Amino acid sequence: MEIAIIAHDGKKAEMVQFLNEHKKILLQKEISLISTGTTGKKVKKAGFEVIRMLSGPMGGDAQIAARVAEGKCHMVLFFRDPLEKHPHEPDVLMLMRLCDVHDVPLATNLATAELLIKAI
Ligand code: PGA
Repeated sequence: MEIAIIAHDGKKAEMVQFLNEHKKILLQKEISLISTGTTGKKVKKAGFEVIRMLSGPMGGDAQIAARVAEGKCHMVLFFRDPLEKHPHEPDVLMLMRLCDVHDVPLATNLATAELLIKAI
């Protein structure tokens, strides 16, 4: 099962804390993690193996969206910061749309990410 982890800058600390709290589940053999570039660096630093895509503003969200469309990515945990502007907002919208098109579970905040991780 491939899980995508993405965090906007204002939510990266929250994302790392989430990963540490759910290490046991996320380190299972059946789970592989992918991330956008900068998020991926932090995921790796937190002790996880992760495949890093491009940084979000450079197309990382779009790359993850493509994996959702291709059926390769099975869950997206997106720690969005709704209080900041992002140059790659169209890519973010595309990712969320494709999750809906392909019925892929998508969390856009910590509370939903907690619920999804407990459902694995
Ligand atoms: P980043 O991208 O992990 O490269 O910071 C995340 C995003 O802004 O979508």
